[in-house]
Amino acid sequence: MAEKTVFQKIIDREIPASIVYEDEHCLVFRDIDPQAPTHLLLIPKKPIPSLAALTAEDRAVAGHLLMMVPRIAQQLNLDAGFRVVCNCGEQAGQAVPHLHLHILAGRAFGWPPG
Ligand code: 5GP
Repeated sequence: MAEKTVFQKIIDREIPASIVYEDEHCLVFRDIDPQAPTHLLLIPKKPIPSLAALTAEDRAVAGHLLMMVPRIAQQLNLDAGFRVVCNCGEQAGQAVPHLHLHILAGRAFGWPPG
């Protein structure tokens, strides 16, 4: 069996995390190394390795993740705006092979991203 990712360990409560939202399909927690005043990670409970690994079977959970973004933003009063980032693959900087959306807020962000 493949070794659990750090995010799977958070889902399974084997390591602690600052969890801000949870439901049947997803978990939202604070990034351990925040890159903005608010830096959340939104992950599916299903261990999908990356955005590129989504299949038709994941349609509902993928839709749920996206629909959760504005709800989380509203819950945390991110009224001034927020940025959603999904690093997919090595060259994009994906370090944890479990699909996740970064939700960043609380400062201005440059474009293009680094
Ligand atoms: P990636 O580079 O794969 O897009 O993002 C992975 C993110 O997971 C990074 O921002 C990193 O700081 C965060 N991270 C890695 N390990 C942990 C952990 O144990 N706890 C939490 N809360 N975040 C983590």
